[in-house]
Amino acid sequence: MCRHLAYIGSPMPLADLLLTPGHGLLTQSWAPRRQRNGTVNADGFGVGWYAPGDPLPARYRRAIPIWADRSFADVARVTSSRAVLAAVRSATSGMTQEESAAAPYASGPWLFSHNGRVEGWPDALEGLAAGLPTSRLLALEAQVDSALLWALVLEQLAGGDSAGDALTHVVRSVTAATSARLNFLLTDGTHIAATAAGDTLFWRTGPGSLVVASEPSDDGPGWHEVPDNCLLTATADHVDIRPIPNLTKEQVAP
Ligand code: GLN
Repeated sequence: MCRHLAYIGSPMPLADLLLTPGHGLLTQSWAPRRQRNGTVNADGFGVGWYAPGDPLPARYRRAIPIWADRSFADVARVTSSRAVLAAVRSATSGMTQEESAAAPYASGPWLFSHNGRVEGWPDALEGLAAGLPTSRLLALEAQVDSALLWALVLEQLAGGDSAGDALTHVVRSVTAATSARLNFLLTDGTHIAATAAGDTLFWRTGPGSLVVASEPSDDGPGWHEVPDNCLLTATADHVDIRPIPNLTKEQVAP
């Protein structure tokens, strides 16, 4: 499955965050070290970031492997941001390979990514989809499980949930309906919320900064693994990790 990463902190060149580290997202696209499912992440990639003075993030997404995009390497060298969410994709079989299915998904100030899969999609989520307003279903960004999961998260956010509560709600309601791997990343540029539910998740703080990623970008110290079936909520200087209530390991597909 995919690999993803979120960063908040002092402005950092995208290349330093994603391309230069020995085991960063670029390397993880062809040689991930911790990925539990899948081998290469060559079915597209995406980067969302926040520019000074603008609460709405910019997105750069392509349907090609990140290593094949020389133009992105150039842009990433000269673009810095205080908040970034990026992903490299290994498309789940049967799901579209188009650019529209490459995370991050976006709405208003939010950026979202899903690493995992929903067994029996789309039929297994028919009941949950039926609970969404028609306008939200018609606005789905792509024919892929992640896009529907994003719509479910957005509906919770629109109802007033915090980022952590929205992710928890969706993990619990989806796993009540079917087996699923649901590693989510969500940011508004100031906070990061993430779930570990079926695949790996790590975090590391630096001076006034935080990285949350599917796997460590380097062999340096300071990486912590988030246990499975947990929610991480954080700002640049505070990280909270707690179990997702009423979720048993058995509910998450191996
Ligand atoms: N199921 C999602 C997709 O097809 C996520 C895939 C993944 O985590 N590899 O895009």
